[in-house]
Formats: sequence, C-alpha cells, structure tokens
Amino acid sequence: MSLAAIQSRLTAACAAHGRAPASVQLIAVSKVQPLDRVVAVLEQGHRLFGENYVQEATGKWPDLRSRFCAVQVHMIGPLQTNKAKLAVDLFDAIHTVDRPSLAEKLAKLAQTRGTSPQLFIQVNTGAEPQKAGILPGDTDAFVTQCRSMDLPLHGLMCIPPEGEDPAPHFAMLAQMATRNGLSGLSMGMSSDFEAAIAHGATHIRVGSAIFGARDYG
Ligand SMILES: *Cc1c(COP(=O)(O)O)cnc(C)c1O
Repeated sequence: MSLAAIQSRLTAACAAHGRAPASVQLIAVSKVQPLDRVVAVLEQGHRLFGENYVQEATGKWPDLRSRFCAVQVHMIGPLQTNKAKLAVDLFDAIHTVDRPSLAEKLAKLAQTRGTSPQLFIQVNTGAEPQKAGILPGDTDAFVTQCRSMDLPLHGLMCIPPEGEDPAPHFAMLAQMATRNGLSGLSMGMSSDFEAAIAHGATHIRVGSAIFGARDYG
C-alpha cells in the first residue's frame, strides 16, 4: 500500500456512501516509523499525522514542522496527566480524553492558554478491561462533566476489539456522538477504515497501510 492507494480507497468509500471526500480526514499514523518514511509522505504533500507517544513526537515533529509548512499532528495514544502540558503545546488534537482527571487538567490548561487542541473522548465500545476509554454507559455523563468544566469537545474516538466485526462499534459511536451533539468521529484504521467511513467517520487513523509494518524491535 501507499499514500496514493489509501487516498483512492478513501475517495471510493466516500463515493459509495454519498459522502464528500473532504468530509474525511486521513491521519497518517507515523508512530515508530523510520524518519525517512515519514519524510517521504510529507514530500508527497500529506500534512496530517498521528502519534501515540509524547516523547517520540517531541523528538520528531518540532524539526519536521520547521521543514514543512502547515503540518498538523494529532495525539492518538494514551496520555498521562503529567504530560498534558507538553501535549497541548505539541498537538493540534488529542483523541484520547479518557478520564475525569485528564479532562480537568486539559480544562485548566485551556483556561490559562485561552485555546485548546481539538478534543475527542475515547470510548471503550467493547468494554474491554485492558483498554482505555470511557465505558459506553458512562459516556453521556462524561460529556456533560467535560462541558461543565468548559472543556471544548469535538468528538468521540474508538478502537473496536480485535477480531470482532467493527461495524457495530462504529455504529454505536456514531449514535453516541449524534445524541451528544458532537460532530467529530475518529474511527477506522488500516484494516477497517472503509467500514468506518460507511458509518460516518470524520477522522480515520491509518498507519501500516501507508507506511508499511511497524518494527518495534
Ligand atoms: C497505531 C494506531 C493506529 C494505526 O494502526 P494501523 O493498523 O497501523 O493502521 C490507529 N489508531 C490508534 C489508536 C493506534 O494506536
């Protein structure tokens, strides 16, 4: 796969579901990828990237931002509260607001700075014990809680359980977003982004299908 191949699949999936291609943002997930692969995608003109680790992103993106204009980087990995300040300095969006203590910290930072990255609440749609995220049954209340802190919310994010049909999870997330008046839907990865587009994804997070397999070694 390559960036161009993914872009054409994105366009085809949008056409199949009567959506404008511009209504879906392609986040190229560059975590753990060698720098030359990331630079190659930047040189092809792509400007929206996703990272999972604050430390890795800090070492990579300030320099790349100075070399390429209008780059946007989204945080899509778990965020420790003690790294929240670094994260709001570095990222244009955070997709992983998953607990009240983090929401409170981000609300305080938003207040002192007068601005905030775009925020998504991560929902643990499969209620998996090992996975981060607000449980589906708690999500409406958590949205209300965030709003009572004046925390600006953009949308919801999910990672469906591995090995399950993701479609019901995407449908559930879309319903919860609509019910709560949230327009952003961050869902869909390399293996299932077309299904996510069918269910209304506004942000798809695609890594290995663009860059190749990640080598954690
Ligand atoms: C790594 C990661 C992705 C990208 O996964 P691929 O299967 O490589 O597309 C998407 N979302 C999250 C939250 C991730 O951690």
